[in-house]
Amino acid sequence: MIKKHYFYLLISMFIVFLPQSVSADCLLFDNGKTKYRIVVSSDASTSEKAAAKELQGYISKIGGVVLPVVNVPTSSNPCIYVGYNSSRVNDASLKRYDDLDEGFTYQTKGENIYIYGGRKMGTAYGVFSLLEQQLGVHWFSNDYTYIPTYKSFVLQDVDHSEVPAFRSRHVLYYQFQQNLELNVHNKLNTHLGTMYDKRGNYSMLSSIWETHTFNLLIPEDKYFKKHPEYFSLRKGKRIKGGQLCLSNTEVIRTLKEAIIKVIKNNPGYFAYSISQNDNYNFCECTKCQEIEHKYGGHSGLLIWAINQIADYVKGIYPDVKICTFAYQYTRNAPENIKPRDNVMVRLCDIECCIAHPLNSSENSSFMTDLRNWCKMTESIYIWDYVTGFVEMMTPSPCLDAISEDIRMYDNMGVYGIMEEGQYISNGGEFAELKQWVLAKLLWNPYQNVDSLVDVFINHYYGNASKDIKTFYELYNSLIKSNTHYKCNITHDHEMFSDRFVNKSQQLLDNAYKKLEKDKALQLHVEDLRCGILFLKTMRNFASTYVNGDYRNLKEYLYKRSIRLSEGKSNEDVFKSLEYQ
Ligand SMILES: [Zn+2]
Ligand SMILES: [Zn+2]
Repeated sequence: MIKKHYFYLLISMFIVFLPQSVSADCLLFDNGKTKYRIVVSSDASTSEKAAAKELQGYISKIGGVVLPVVNVPTSSNPCIYVGYNSSRVNDASLKRYDDLDEGFTYQTKGENIYIYGGRKMGTAYGVFSLLEQQLGVHWFSNDYTYIPTYKSFVLQDVDHSEVPAFRSRHVLYYQFQQNLELNVHNKLNTHLGTMYDKRGNYSMLSSIWETHTFNLLIPEDKYFKKHPEYFSLRKGKRIKGGQLCLSNTEVIRTLKEAIIKVIKNNPGYFAYSISQNDNYNFCECTKCQEIEHKYGGHSGLLIWAINQIADYVKGIYPDVKICTFAYQYTRNAPENIKPRDNVMVRLCDIECCIAHPLNSSENSSFMTDLRNWCKMTESIYIWDYVTGFVEMMTPSPCLDAISEDIRMYDNMGVYGIMEEGQYISNGGEFAELKQWVLAKLLWNPYQNVDSLVDVFINHYYGNASKDIKTFYELYNSLIKSNTHYKCNITHDHEMFSDRFVNKSQQLLDNAYKKLEKDKALQLHVEDLRCGILFLKTMRNFASTYVNGDYRNLKEYLYKRSIRLSEGKSNEDVFKSLEYQ
């Protein structure tokens, strides 16, 4: 099978060597006039029809001209065909995409333009990509879509195709959780929940129902009193706040019934999670240990149990996947057993250093686990961490390392990735930049990270982009070969210094002043300033208390509803400082 990145390369070569004789540039509009029609077949999919309308809307904002959307082409007008138009569906010169393919092509043929791909979302992605790559529209964040304006626009001769690297792409940042459109335009297809929209329920492509679900499916409040034997035996006693006793056949039976009920009551998810609670209190009973001994440890018992439930679910819902964790005590791959075809394994790299690529020696035990899991199933879904969760504003520069990891994951053939960052509120460190760059990389990991960062900074910070670039470089320079940190990083990490804080404040103050006339962009800089102010306050509370910085920080956090920590309230984060 052709490797995906070679596919991109082949496509680029094809563009370079396209014979020039067939070229006929497309003058899309000129001084408020156009000859073009947008053609979308009456039997096109919901998302294709919506994309045609969106194309019309964006071109109208870009060029001040409205291209009529029609179902049938007219012979006298050049056309932009959106989707496989029914009159051309048998045209052998068009590439073929299955309905669920997310890949797409946009190409010119003479004066006509063809945008098509999988009917469910591929064609729509083709429209967004043409707008982004050829016309320069960027969907950067909740509050900022960049739409250029031109008097006239010529689309040069082009034949361009793309397919995603990962079938499931999830950026778990706050704005992507709030804003479905931001996901769709950046070609993400996964969300914590299912969301319905004008495109016809797109997010069902790969959303997963819930996580840490043992206690949701068999709640201890409901079962423990009557059936303590369903729960973990620890030091000879059945306990609450642990896991399930998976060797108990009644537990398996109850899980089967519970998950069927969940699927029935929550239709539309791609996968349903049956997964350990977020603690290490696994069952120590003899029967559990016997099964673990046979199948290579805790993950062996888990897969042994999950397989039985997956077989049962398959008989009732053959297309649904069951998802479980390879997390903490179940991270290593099992032996003498492998997950069923309808089981997806979410492998979490929470123990790893974020500053350096997973391929570095410090993370070698994770890589061993990854390789072993990948040998036994193609359904590996990565849960990756890109920020600190104890203090969401503490700088965690990691895009270089993470981008290398995403390429590595592509080479290992993993099914999907979730990048978990500041998901509980606005205001994480470089949250908007990170979420956008990560979305781009999950679609195509072979894009140059520095170029993506430049595109973002140049637009998002406008006239202040030079200072922000210098700040970004300073932030990245915190990482040395011997600087290590994980997703529990806090302000007292040795990489931070007064020099870093002072220099950052200087750069950000300069940037802020340069945007006096552009309040919207100034707000983007204010978020960064707030992050550094947080670091300064945590490192040197007394001085910020005296000079008013602390009060300013609290006011800003309140104004923007920013939450600082996954586990603590803002008050609790500061409380420890106030009592010092
Ligand atoms: Zn047990
Ligand atoms: Zn490291």
